[in-house]
Amino acid sequence: MTITRFAPSPTGYLHIGNLRTALFNHLIARKGNGRFILRLDDTDPERSTREYADAIREDLRWLGLAWDREEHQSERLRRYEEAADRLRASGRLYECFETPTELDLKRRKQLNMGRPPVYDRAALKLSEAEKAELRRTRPGHWRFRLDHERIEWEDGILGPVSIDAASVSDPVLIRGDGQFLYTLASVCDDMDFAITDVVRGADHVTNTATQIQIIRALGGEAPRFAHHSLLTGPQGEALSKRLGALALRDLRAEGIEPMAILSLLARLGSGDPVELRHSIDELAEGFDLSRFGAAPTRFDPADLKPLTQKYVAGLPFEAVQGDIAALGVPDDIAPAFWDAVRENIETRADMGRWWDLMRNGAEPLIAPEDADFVAEALKLLPSRPWDETTWSRWTAAVKEATGRKGRALFMPLRKALTGMSHGPDMARLMPLLQVVKAADGG
Ligand code: GLU
Repeated sequence: MTITRFAPSPTGYLHIGNLRTALFNHLIARKGNGRFILRLDDTDPERSTREYADAIREDLRWLGLAWDREEHQSERLRRYEEAADRLRASGRLYECFETPTELDLKRRKQLNMGRPPVYDRAALKLSEAEKAELRRTRPGHWRFRLDHERIEWEDGILGPVSIDAASVSDPVLIRGDGQFLYTLASVCDDMDFAITDVVRGADHVTNTATQIQIIRALGGEAPRFAHHSLLTGPQGEALSKRLGALALRDLRAEGIEPMAILSLLARLGSGDPVELRHSIDELAEGFDLSRFGAAPTRFDPADLKPLTQKYVAGLPFEAVQGDIAALGVPDDIAPAFWDAVRENIETRADMGRWWDLMRNGAEPLIAPEDADFVAEALKLLPSRPWDETTWSRWTAAVKEATGRKGRALFMPLRKALTGMSHGPDMARLMPLLQVVKAADGG
């Protein structure tokens, strides 16, 4: 069975970049009739908050990315302690005492000499007496001793990956203040929850190399890994602060639909064209990780608008009934209202503008050269109630009386009634217009 996880840190809102990770893991689990776990990486008590955790859940629910199980790293510290003890016992975890300043100095020296800034393992040479001495002045932190060999795996997106462990610093697993770091916590969780597939951003490739060794040192078996490329802005520029921080809740506030976001992200960066899908099941069906490439993926938030528009226009009345009722549209005209406006809105919220126009009337837009024509036409307006035949009866009568036809006949009338040169089909709109300012003066 496929078991995947999405592991955000509750230190901020979900944004488009980490949503991509969530979606890929969710789709793989769905496709494999498997399970999808939401894991909150909250080992950092200072930066993790309950509000962000709630917001992450809320955003995932809004998107429809349901999870089968939820886990919190902050509740599993004993487990990490056990794992650390095992690593210590097997000589793979060693105590270090360098301060951040000392480490920084070492790195700079190495760089100056043209060497890669890899931790020099000086702490391994400390005697017990020296360590005891150092412990008196500062708390030690703990590093995992990598085996200096090539670490290799078949990546679900990148293909075969091979990393020389000697080019990587021994990762710190426990900080001086005792806090377990993500690297160890994540490995324990992936083992304990029997994760079969890990999809995450390409910025985690080095982590993966070290984690593979840690998993093995703990007697486990590495899951399959896949690293998706990072998103860039529309011109290929590094995702700017603004775009990178494009929180899902901001998109939601703009009226962007979940299926528009998911449809775009499920295809962006793959060899397949973006196509609007109406459900997550549909997305999962066509999803194939191996279609994605390693090159950075361009993301343009503007692409979400046409997808949203298309999605909304295709919604059945039942799906928008609630939104329409909330505007105060009477039930008996609600289905006709939806048919009139569905092709003329970008987001659901745009319905409000149309209802406002219908209920309160629009400021007429009348060109000076059309003023007489419009005045004459308005005298011929059929009396209420209006129905779907009203527009054709009216324009036929106006044509007869004025001799105008085609665009010269219809456009000034549309502008006079709606204040705009475009909008819903007039035959559908007429019966919904409660007020025509041009004619009734309100
Ligand atoms: N909390 C980590 C992150 O958000 C999880 C990475 C992973 O998937 O292992 O980057």
